Amino acid sequence: MSRRTLIAGNWKMNGLTGSLDYFRELAPVAADSAAEVLVCPPATLIHPVAQACRGTRIRVGGQDCHARNSGAHTGDISAPMLRDAGASHVILGHSERRAGHGERDMDVQAKAAAASAAGLVPVICVGETLTEREAGQAVEVVARQLAGSLPENSAIVDLVIAYEPVWAIGTGLTASLTDVAEMHAAIRERLKNPLTTCILYGGSVKPDNAEALLSLADVDGALVGGASLDVTDFSAIVRAAGSGTQLAR
Ligand code: PEP
Repeated sequence: MSRRTLIAGNWKMNGLTGSLDYFRELAPVAADSAAEVLVCPPATLIHPVAQACRGTRIRVGGQDCHARNSGAHTGDISAPMLRDAGASHVILGHSERRAGHGERDMDVQAKAAAASAAGLVPVICVGETLTEREAGQAVEVVARQLAGSLPENSAIVDLVIAYEPVWAIGTGLTASLTDVAEMHAAIRERLKNPLTTCILYGGSVKPDNAEALLSLADVDGALVGGASLDVTDFSAIVRAAGSGTQLAR
């Protein structure tokens, strides 16, 4: 069975309603792409972006959700709310949330279950720190994060994994192609649905390194932070995934 290719942009805490022209430029690039294209803007923009992208091949995602559907959780957003606003996916367990908000694997797992129950595709992020990589523990750390973060029924859930070495996020450093290939193969080995689960690489993906990363056998796409803020750069990364006339893996 073939796997889809996904190019996803994570805008993090960037973007105002004045940023919507971006989608007029991205729409024709997405229309011609072999990849699915996803943009995850801040929560305030999910609905306007979903409206701006109606009739295009651009999907919209959240950057986090709460594990509960509703209740006394000031400032939080639930998975059904994201869905209601027009999201199809949600990024979960990003290293900035693990580090900045103390999110543990068990929290990510609960959020992933809530997301998938609400009809969202969870994009579950895993990745080692530089200290862990230098200690030779990268695969062990990522395997532990996967085991703890995937929903218990992951065999029947449509999900995406994003391997994002923490030291490569926003730093301009990328993992070597050998290290990415090794980690993606190690992740795939541990999945319940190895042949169909999409595994993204994230960490300073740019127009000039996207093609090489996307050419690796187990790399099914990219999660792009900084470069997704510039529509020219993000479009170049989408184009690096090939055109709609090429067969997706
Ligand atoms: C990210 O935030 O998920 C990310 C990969 O960021 P950057 O591309 O800026 O490294």
